[in-house]
Amino acid sequence: MGQINKNDLVKIEDGVRFIPGASALVGPLNKIINWGRAGSIWPVTFGLACCAIEMMVAGASTNDLDRFGIIFRASPRQADCLILAGTITKKMAPVIRRVYDQMPEPRYVLAMGSCACSGGLFDTYAVVQGGDEFLPVDVYIPGCPPRPEALLQGLIKLQEKINGEQGRWSQMA
Ligand code: SF4
Repeated sequence: MGQINKNDLVKIEDGVRFIPGASALVGPLNKIINWGRAGSIWPVTFGLACCAIEMMVAGASTNDLDRFGIIFRASPRQADCLILAGTITKKMAPVIRRVYDQMPEPRYVLAMGSCACSGGLFDTYAVVQGGDEFLPVDVYIPGCPPRPEALLQGLIKLQEKINGEQGRWSQMA
């Protein structure tokens, strides 16, 4: 291959460029890793209450999360994102924590809906008043329930957050 002209490089993301014909990317390692992570968010298949129905709709054909590289995985070992979709009862909190602990780093948490953000209308002895009481929540999505489009917006916010990370190799929270 001859000498590569800067103008021959194809821009993929800010700071990430592709060399046509060489199957190679150029850019700072941090940017390339973030680009890869943001484009392959794999949430664990896990729902808690009514918000999970909206989450399922978000994953179905109308919204089609796959086009963003967001693909639900049935095992926490293969997932890097936990969507708290629904009311978190005190009975379920240790189970959710165990699922989170089984996920590899780096891992991210979305609180979907009023219940997962703050307990919602269930200010009772049996309900955890927000996922951030026992997990490091990255993005909060308000609503009861939030529409699938709101979840999509939350996942795009998470992508923006990942793209702004600096050399994240282990848990920072
Ligand atoms: S926020 Fe509303 S829709 Fe979502 S789990 Fe709570 S009560 Fe159900």
